[in-house]
Amino acid sequence: EQLLVDLKERSYPILIGNGIFPLLPEELEKRGISTDRKLFIVTDDRVAPHYLNKVLDILQSKGYSCSYHIVPAGEKAKTLAQLEEVTTSALKAGMDRKSVFLALGGGVVGDLGGFCAATYMRGVPFVQIPTTLLAHDSSVGGKVAVNHPVGKNMIGAFHQPSLVFYDTETLQTLPSREIYAGFAEVVKHGLIWSKEFTDWLDKHAENLLNLQSPYIEQAIHQGCLIKSQVVSEDETEKGRRAILNLGHTFGHAMESLSHYGQLIHGEAVAIGMVAASLLAERIGLVDNSLGVSQRTIDILKKFKLPVRLADHFDPMEMLAAMKHDKKTSGGQLVFVLPKNIGSVEIVKGIADDQVIETLKILKEVN
Ligand code: NAD
Ligand code: ZN
Repeated sequence: EQLLVDLKERSYPILIGNGIFPLLPEELEKRGISTDRKLFIVTDDRVAPHYLNKVLDILQSKGYSCSYHIVPAGEKAKTLAQLEEVTTSALKAGMDRKSVFLALGGGVVGDLGGFCAATYMRGVPFVQIPTTLLAHDSSVGGKVAVNHPVGKNMIGAFHQPSLVFYDTETLQTLPSREIYAGFAEVVKHGLIWSKEFTDWLDKHAENLLNLQSPYIEQAIHQGCLIKSQVVSEDETEKGRRAILNLGHTFGHAMESLSHYGQLIHGEAVAIGMVAASLLAERIGLVDNSLGVSQRTIDILKKFKLPVRLADHFDPMEMLAAMKHDKKTSGGQLVFVLPKNIGSVEIVKGIADDQVIETLKILKEVN
């Protein structure tokens, strides 16, 4: 399966398939990355035991010279301190301006490794090799970043990969909780773009949760397709691309208030999407009779995702955290809200008390 992210001279393919790792060298070659260029793999300490040697063997057997750096697993690795460590390691390994970084892992490794590539010697190419379901989202679109204690993804860049190479066989070793979290972003792509895809996800939830072929490949393909279409229209988020942030204004606030601990990204986004649907109903953007919030809750629960705001979150603190997020414009909060299943709108100027009331209701959802 092959998709193309159409960004003129920055266009790149997304390859999706079960067991495609052996094709990596020839795909690199096709993208102009030949054996005279040193490769630098960034991965984490949970992914490395499963896949690092495999990828190294495949690349080295075709004559590539590779070095690597392993970061600790989890959101806590998305820091400036880790950026410096990876950079030090790349410098010591002799990476130069013709070198290519490979991010082997989930969204954390993709965001961190991609940002390293964006800044290493003012920018070297990189390849995304996603190993989580969630990374069908993060590996496409060129947003790369690390977190700042004040807020998520506050230090970053737009740096498009040269290739997204997705061997879905890697999902077999992913912990269940991470699989569920990945579906949050898959469902998000349905909710923002397509009622038909949302219905399809709903219908095949069971097969999808079991990572059954061809359903899982189809879901990833469709998710990547929607993402790449949105990104192609607005690469650097001047406007429409922001619809991809459905659930993220609320979600990022939860993530930063829980210090990137209790809730993982997909879970926070799931609760955030419920919040967005409740807020949309509250301000009358969507007709209550359409049952959009209930439908959102139902499908997320089907994918075993949380939908309720935990009691310990204080609505006022959440509001303050949201105002620190990037998704503000002239100090005003910007929300992506559903108009129906499969379509959203970007809305500014919502009064603080509407948000606070929504957060209170969000604690009662079940
Ligand atoms: P992650 O990278 O932390 O991976 C989740 C966990 O699974 C980690 O512990 C990892 O070590 C482990 N893991 C990964 N692949 C595995 C495998 N195949 N087998 C066993 N274990 C495996 O998290 P994630 O959910 O992939 O990504 C979340 C991050 O992505 C967040 O930081 C979020 O902000 C970012 N994100 C970025 C974008 C973007 O456009 N750049 C979009 C969405 C999300
Ligand atoms: Zn996300």
